[in-house]
Amino acid sequence: MILIRNAKLLTPKGVVEKDLLIENGKIASIGGEKDKSDVVIDGSRKAVIPGFFNTHTHAAMTLFRSYADDMVLHEWLEKKIWPLEAKLDADAVYWGTKLACVEMLKSGTVFFNDMYFFPEAIAKAVEECGIRACISAAFFDFFNPDLLEENLKNAVKTLKDIEKYDVLRAIGPHAVYTVSLDGLKRAAEIAEEMDIFIHFHLAETEKEVLDFKKQHGKLIVQALDEIGFLSKMLIAAHSVWLEDAEIELLAKRGVSVSHCPVSNMKLSVGKAINYEKMKQEGVNFTIGTDGAASNNNLDMLEEMKFAALLQKFYYNNPTLMSAEESFEAATVNGARAFGIKSGLIEEGYEANVVLVDLTKPFMQPEHSLVANLVYAASSGCVDTVIVRGEVVVENGVMVREDEDEIMEKAGKVAEKLKGSEEQSS
Ligand SMILES: [Zn+2]
Repeated sequence: MILIRNAKLLTPKGVVEKDLLIENGKIASIGGEKDKSDVVIDGSRKAVIPGFFNTHTHAAMTLFRSYADDMVLHEWLEKKIWPLEAKLDADAVYWGTKLACVEMLKSGTVFFNDMYFFPEAIAKAVEECGIRACISAAFFDFFNPDLLEENLKNAVKTLKDIEKYDVLRAIGPHAVYTVSLDGLKRAAEIAEEMDIFIHFHLAETEKEVLDFKKQHGKLIVQALDEIGFLSKMLIAAHSVWLEDAEIELLAKRGVSVSHCPVSNMKLSVGKAINYEKMKQEGVNFTIGTDGAASNNNLDMLEEMKFAALLQKFYYNNPTLMSAEESFEAATVNGARAFGIKSGLIEEGYEANVVLVDLTKPFMQPEHSLVANLVYAASSGCVDTVIVRGEVVVENGVMVREDEDEIMEKAGKVAEKLKGSEEQSS
C-alpha cells in the first residue's frame, strides 16, 4: 500500500488537497483512512496527476534521434532511416526501447502503444522497466499475395511469442500504401479472433489519400469500413487527411485516433487534424509522439502543448482545443482506447499516477494546474511515477533500472549502426 499525504490531487472535480491511498494497484480511497500503509510519500508542494498514455510511437527509434533531420519525408526514409533499420537486431531494439522507457517514465508517461521490429525484445524491455505498453506485431505485404501469407503467419507467431509477457497486444498492419486491402481484412480478422488491438497509420499525407482514391475510386475510411476493419479495437495514428464523412464513420465504429502533432509539423504533412469535427462526432481523440526520429523526443507534456497550439494556429482560432481538452486526450482518452480504467484521479481507477513538483518556477503561480501542465511544464517537474501501484520513478530517478547503463548501451548500439552504414555506403 502507498499513502500519498498532503498533495494537491487533480481530480475530475478540480484540485483538492486530500490524502490518496493506493492499494492492489488501484486508487483505493481519496481522503479516506490513514496510517496503515507501508509506504508513505510526502506530497507537500506536489500535485498528483494521472500519468500519460502515448498512443502512437516506435520506441526503439530513439536510436535514430537527431541522426537525420530537416529532410523531405521519402528522402529521409529511403536514404537515412530504412538503411539503418535494415541493420537492426533484437539487441539493438531492446536497448533502444529501454532508452525510450526511461525517457517516457521520467516525463510522466505510464503507457505507450508501440509498433516496431523485434516485438519480443520490446516486451522484455517493457516488463523490466515497469511501464505498461501495447506491442504490435507489425505487418506489411507490399501488395504481394505470397508475402501476405508469409508475413501474416509470422505476425501470428510473434503475437503468440509475446503472449507470456505482461503487455497488451496488437496486430500492426502498417498503412494502405504498404498493405493490400486483402491484407488489412485478414489482419482485422486475426485481431478479432485473438481479441487484440489493431495499430495502423491512417491518412498521414495527402499523397496517400490521392493515390488510394485513384486506385480504388473511394475514400480510405469507406474502403476500410467495407472490409470490416473499423472497430473500437482500432487505433488509427495521424488521421490528418480525412473528409467529414470519414470522421463520422470513425466515430460510429468507435475507432480511437492518435494525433501526433510534432511529427505532422516536422514532416510537413500539410494540414492539421480536424479536431473540431472529431470532437463534434465524439471520436475518441488521443495523443502520440510518433518515433523519436521524427519528433525528436517522447515527451507527452510537450506533445499536449503542440496539439493545442497547432489547432489554434492552423485554423486561426485561439479558442480551439483548450488545455483541458488536450490534457484529457493525453490521459483518460488514451486509457479508454485500450480499455483501461485509468487516466483520472478517482477511486477505483488503476493507480497510474505522477507526482509533479510545484516548486519549479514554471509551475508557479498556480492559477490553473492543467494550463501549467499543458502550456508551461517540462519533464523536469516529474518527481515520482507510479504504475499500477508500483513506484517506478522516485525523486526523478528510475527505481528498477540503471539509467546510466541504459544510456551507455543504447549509445553504443546507435554508434555501431551508424558506423556500419557509413562503411557500406
Ligand atoms: Zn508512426
